[in-house]
Amino acid sequence: MDFGRDMTKTPGIVAKSNIRLVDETHLGDDPLDRELCLKANEAAKDLFFGNDYTTSKQATDNSEDEETLKLIDCSLYNEQHLPPARRLIQPNDLVVVFESFNDLNFVYATPNDIFSNRNGHFHHNDFIGKPYGCKIRSKDNEGLGFLYLLRPTPELWARSLPHRTQIVHELDASMITHYLEISPNMTVCESGTGSGAMSHVILRSIAPKGKLHTYEFNKMRVGKARKEFEGHGLGHLVQVHHRDVCGKKNLLAAKNGANSEEGIEQSAEDDALTDSATTDVDNDDMNEEEEVDDGKGGFQLGQAAAHAIFLDLPEPWLAVPHAAYTIKPNGRICSYSPCMEQTQKTVAAMKQNGFHSMRTVEARLKEYYVDEYEMETPPSDLLDIPTEEAVSLEKERQVGGTQKTKESEDKTDNDIKVNGKKRSNDSVKGPSRKILCARPFAHMRGHTAFLTFATAGNKLRPDPNASLT
Ligand code: SAM
Repeated sequence: MDFGRDMTKTPGIVAKSNIRLVDETHLGDDPLDRELCLKANEAAKDLFFGNDYTTSKQATDNSEDEETLKLIDCSLYNEQHLPPARRLIQPNDLVVVFESFNDLNFVYATPNDIFSNRNGHFHHNDFIGKPYGCKIRSKDNEGLGFLYLLRPTPELWARSLPHRTQIVHELDASMITHYLEISPNMTVCESGTGSGAMSHVILRSIAPKGKLHTYEFNKMRVGKARKEFEGHGLGHLVQVHHRDVCGKKNLLAAKNGANSEEGIEQSAEDDALTDSATTDVDNDDMNEEEEVDDGKGGFQLGQAAAHAIFLDLPEPWLAVPHAAYTIKPNGRICSYSPCMEQTQKTVAAMKQNGFHSMRTVEARLKEYYVDEYEMETPPSDLLDIPTEEAVSLEKERQVGGTQKTKESEDKTDNDIKVNGKKRSNDSVKGPSRKILCARPFAHMRGHTAFLTFATAGNKLRPDPNASLT
């Protein structure tokens, strides 16, 4: 993934920002329209480049900026979306492999490696140098098997990544990003890291100069996450901390007394978790200036250091006092919990720690097929409400069976009067034609979690660890 590029140095930046500036030649003759478009262009530039742009613009009396911020010709506009990324696959690049709509896989394009599936063998050498999005044919099976090679996005990565834990899926992830108001260059804290699915979503939003501090107490997951972030070109945007943010050891020791049986038992359990499954972790992934978990909990970034905090933990309420200390005044927090009991405890902790404007939501996805279907159209002369005459005729038919009245005999089975107009029963079946319809997917993803959002108060909060020795 390549969304950590420094945007201000990217050539063609205006196109890549997805902000469309209107070229002078398209402004038209109306003086008011022209004025509005020029002002909108200026606002778009300021919005995208932020204060740096405005300051340098004022300083240089705009001569140099005109050079770097040339308006683009809309007719040549090359549609590009963030994140910007390489067009061609390079050696060791992450590639999402589309096998079918329900089967996404991934590979790192490694010279001389082979990717195999039920459709055949695919040589990585054939991937390298090809554009993302291309179709690759198998070397065997007479080339009948094929794959599409896709450029990774957080959404595609979430669908193909190796699951080490439950992950946050796209619907929840988009709600979280939106309501945490995560935007470029923010500092965000997250715990736990788990499989890194939510981390990738956050990273795309905080690029190019933000920082994600993600905390995980399982050593194996820490190592794997670090390796993946580096491999995806995101290492400069993220720091993975090996740490228990809840400080459970300390809490239990304080509650039960360090020597009590329960305290010791729980501590042993936590040690097992912290050191679990280290065998398949590459030591290089763990040697990165390993910080020592002092057992106190918290994010160790100091007071008011994070713009937003995301918690996906079994006991988020224990992390809330630490979050209150680390978050900036008026910053946003979100806790993701599958159970209402967890949510209730978290909301109570948030209230106690100065958060306000709590809102808990459950997002459910309902997808539709919207497509053209062959259908019979209703007759144009069929009216909803039958006349009295038509109703009595129908009654006579039901009661009389074969004993038809003279009047009814006048009306053949094929003829019926509706609101005074004669209509032939033949016209009940309209001609069949294609109609645009919408129908919901048969499978609907059900409950994932309750998302609780809140805003930090505007006063600084004390460090819960301050009283600990
Ligand atoms: N949000 C992640 C994703 O989208 O991939 C999944 C997170 S997973 C459900 C929860 C993670 O939190 C687990 O990996 C677990 O080891 C970690 N965890 C649980 N308690 C923790 C704590 N007190 N401190 C740090 N990590 C913790």
